Amino acid sequence: MKMSRLRFNFGFLLEADFGTIRRIELDYPSIKLSDDLTLSPLKGVITATRTTEGIYIQGELESAVVLECVRCLTETIVPLNFTLDELFFYPPQSAPPGENRVGEDGMIDLAPLVRELSLLSLPTKVLCREDCLGLCQECGANLNDGDCGCAPDEIDPRLAALQQLLNNERNGG
Ligand SMILES: [Zn+2]
Ligand SMILES: [Zn+2]
Repeated sequence: MKMSRLRFNFGFLLEADFGTIRRIELDYPSIKLSDDLTLSPLKGVITATRTTEGIYIQGELESAVVLECVRCLTETIVPLNFTLDELFFYPPQSAPPGENRVGEDGMIDLAPLVRELSLLSLPTKVLCREDCLGLCQECGANLNDGDCGCAPDEIDPRLAALQQLLNNERNGG
């Protein structure tokens, strides 16, 4: 398995005085967090603070993900912004169940946290634009590209009756 590019060594920070802060700039044109999630880009600054309990990670990250519009299925760039605000306990044994912890080796992998925050900030419904017209029910054409020429959904029943009458006359003649 490929090593996460969001894995950082905080060994030196664990040795430092409480209150020591380290600033880390993230600037990835594209980063794959899991098979189902690639962020393009992922940018921002995080600060890691040595506290009595471990390492406290804070930051504001800007990102975007490409998803299909629910109406027309066009690939759409969805901006994502989220805030990191997490304590990673150290030593790892001191972490309460379910809490984040620094690895024995002083490493923190931010990928699972960034993935979770990304998923939480996704819109429930992705639209390429607010007034997306979607796909034609008949031919599947993208109606945002223009009228596909298919007949309107329903023919007015009165017109249908007239059409029937004309057909009968023509056939009977
Ligand atoms: Zn659309
Ligand atoms: Zn059509």
